[in-house]
Amino acid sequence: GVTVEFTGPTRVFTVSNQKGGVGKTTTTVNVASALASLGAQVLVIDLDPQGNASTALSIPHSADVLSVYDVLINGTALADVVQVSPEHPNLRCAPSTIHLAGAEIELVAQVAREFRLRRALETYLKTHPTDVVIIDCPPSLGLLTINAFTAASEVFIPIQAEYYALEGLSQLLGSIQMIQQHLNPELHLSTILLTMFDGRTRLAQQVADEVRNHFPDQVLDTVIPRSVRVSEAPSFGQSVIAYDGTSAGAIAYQEAAVEIASRTQGKEN
Ligand code: ADP
Ligand code: MG
Repeated sequence: GVTVEFTGPTRVFTVSNQKGGVGKTTTTVNVASALASLGAQVLVIDLDPQGNASTALSIPHSADVLSVYDVLINGTALADVVQVSPEHPNLRCAPSTIHLAGAEIELVAQVAREFRLRRALETYLKTHPTDVVIIDCPPSLGLLTINAFTAASEVFIPIQAEYYALEGLSQLLGSIQMIQQHLNPELHLSTILLTMFDGRTRLAQQVADEVRNHFPDQVLDTVIPRSVRVSEAPSFGQSVIAYDGTSAGAIAYQEAAVEIASRTQGKEN
């Protein structure tokens, strides 16, 4: 297979799009798993109270499990909540639990409420060398997502190639700009991935072309096809790479991961 060398500083991605159902969680889990099999040390942070990323990586996340909630609200060390996914020894996840649903409101009263995740991650990374961190965000622009935006430097947007895809983006781009100006100057849109792509429809092709015209440097060459295997994998607690590594969806996510990994090297070396 392909080998990619991971050197240099930790890359921290936040997978964001205020639309639900565009493939944020699917992309988080599958890119994370693919990067881990390429040799990267990977940490997924599940910031969505629904906990779908935790489920897909077979990470226990019932209400009694220590989770990102405890990190944000109780000051628990990130190292104390991180678990290794049975899928790959390089693949770790800080789970979400149902308590996280209340964190949006509880955070309001916290000191440095926008930076709780950033501080916890900085401390964790000092003792746990990690190549890539991927934060799965909820589909809203509240304090949980703001915590992801201050902890990350790269925004990773999955886009479903459909009619309103670009219109929905302007609010997100505005938020990124606001965060850049006021809270995290390093934050930038680095990566866009077209998901659930149906190349047979002309509309999908047109939207893809339009997205590529607007963001020529950010859109990955790889597109993720709509695939039943991709949607089945989470119910087996697996990424599609573990579930059916030879399926079209698995191959596409592996190619996307190689692109993501080699782009850094292109830019930073
Ligand atoms: P989000 O996190 O943005 O809400 P999800 O990743 O949960 O979106 O995806 C929404 C739904 O679409 C899920 O049921 C998921 O299994 C399905 N899905 C995502 N990507 C694909 C794909 N490439 N092919 C088929 N189904 C997909
Ligand atoms: Mg999700």
